[in-house]
Formats: sequence, C-alpha cells, structure tokens
Amino acid sequence: MKKTTVTIFHNGDDLSARTFETLSDKMSLRGYDVNTEYKDDSTDLIVCIGGDGAFLRAIHTCDFPSCPIVGINTGHLGFFQDVLPEGIDQFIDQYESGEYSLQHLNTVRATVTTEDGKKQTQLGLNEITIKGNRSYSVHLFISIGNQPIEKFSGDGLIFATSSGSTAYNYSVGGSISDPRLNVLQVTPIAPMNTTAYRSFTSSILLPADLSLGVVPEQRENHIFVTNDSRESEYTNVKDIEVRVSNTSVHLIRLKGYDFWSKVKDKFL
Ligand code: NAD
Repeated sequence: MKKTTVTIFHNGDDLSARTFETLSDKMSLRGYDVNTEYKDDSTDLIVCIGGDGAFLRAIHTCDFPSCPIVGINTGHLGFFQDVLPEGIDQFIDQYESGEYSLQHLNTVRATVTTEDGKKQTQLGLNEITIKGNRSYSVHLFISIGNQPIEKFSGDGLIFATSSGSTAYNYSVGGSISDPRLNVLQVTPIAPMNTTAYRSFTSSILLPADLSLGVVPEQRENHIFVTNDSRESEYTNVKDIEVRVSNTSVHLIRLKGYDFWSKVKDKFL
C-alpha cells in the first residue's frame, strides 16, 4: 500500500523546531513518508507549525495546494490552527480515523492589467489590498459588475475573504464574516468623505459571482497591490479586476472546532 506523504513546514523558532522533530519522528514511526518539500502531485497532507504568518507563508510557498493542510499553533493568535504541540498524538489518531472535517476557505484574486496590455494575477487567502504611492492618498474609480459606483479617495481598499475578515479587515473596522459565507468584503482604509471627496465609509459585502473593477485616476502612477501582505508595485495600471477566486484552501478542522468560539477566545 502507498505510504501517505506528509510535507511539514515550520517557522524556525525553538518551539516549532522541537515540535517538527517530535512530529517527524512520530509520523515516520507510524509509517508516513515525511519530507519538507511540497510536491503538488505526491503530497497528501501538509502540516504547518507556527502562527498565522507561517500558515500564510506555507500556502503561498505551495502556490495554494490542492491537498489538505493542518496548522499546529506555536505562534500568538492561531486563527488557522486547531492543534497544539502537546496534542500531536491525538491529532495523528484523529487524522487516521477520519475524525475531522475539511473547511474549504475561499480566496480572492486580483488581475492587474497595465497600459501595455500585460496581465498579472495575485491570489490572497486573507485579502488583496490596493494602495497608492508611499503615504499619499489614492484615488480609484470603483465599479461593481460593470456599474460605476464611486470614486474612492483615501489610503486604500481591502478586499477580504470571510476567513481573512478577522485579520487586517477587522483592524480597520470591517466586519467579522463567518467563513461559511462565500462573500467578498470591501473595506476602506481611511476613506475621505468631504464635500471634495465622496467615498463609502463602511465596508460593503458582495456575492461571490460579482467582480469589482478598479481604475486608478490618471495621476496615479504607482499602485501597490498586496496579497496577504506580499507587496507588488505597478506603474501605468489600466485596471484591476478583483473577485472571489475558484481556488480554495482545504483546512483540517478537528472535532469541536467552532468559528465563533475561536473568535471569542482570540478577541474578547
Ligand atoms: P504579521 O506577522 O504582521 O501578522 C499580523 C497579525 O495578523 C498576526 O497577529 C496574525 O496572527 C494575524 N492574522 C493573520 N491572518 C489572520 C486571520 N485570518 N484572522 C485573524 N488574524 C490573522 O504578518 P503575517 O503574519 O505575514 O500576516 C499577514 C497578514 O497580516 C495579512 O494577510 C493581513 O491580514 C495582516 N495585516 C494586518 C494589519 C493590521 O491589522 N493593521 C496590517 C497589515 C497586515
């Protein structure tokens, strides 16, 4: 019978490195093929040891893997993780007996088209942001489903998935959205709302099948697009399309996982 292949990532700190050693030994003893290099066609399970930052790094390193992923929390917050270092044996038992569910986390995609016709895409698990050059305000024409809606003026916009709604989105006053809702939350960062500029001052929620068009005002030469804080700078942007992507991340949730209990534990 083919061995189950497990790729393990860790964030390099002491506790994570020790947890990595323990987990590798235990899984190897139980007959798993353990490695540290993800291969799309052979990895059956990814384990990521660290905090949310390490989890996001693993997702991007593996280019949004199609196999299940589980997080072991050695970081501070641990929104994506259900397992603690002391719960490794229990996790392996539950994994083997199928006592878990897969939470399919939606992602958000930005397609940036520049004046020369070139297109580049960015994928985010938490969010895409669009900001201007350095600390200047940015002016962006926003359309929803081809319908012009507003000219946004302010520091920028966050386009958050539901699972990312508890991250940057929440820090700037966005709503917490249950990950079972496949929606895109558009949250302004320091919107200007005066007689000179008119921008929405609250988040708006869009269904997954609507796309947003973002056209920088002509004077905006530098646009910064981030996906989960990975920043790309663009010049001569013609437009940016932002929408919920078909790609999803398959997160292992153990028995007893409840999104709202986690929110309460971590935030209140
Ligand atoms: P980081 O180490 O600066 O992490 C920022 C914080 O965000 C950490 O406490 C992490 O636990 C938390 N976090 C990440 N994803 C989360 C989620 N889905 N729900 C709740 N909390 C979450 O940077 P990083 O670790 O590389 O993470 C990148 C993320 O940081 C971005 O996706 C963005 O959401 C977030 N961020 C937050 C702010 C802010 O709150 N002002 C600013 C920039 C980026």
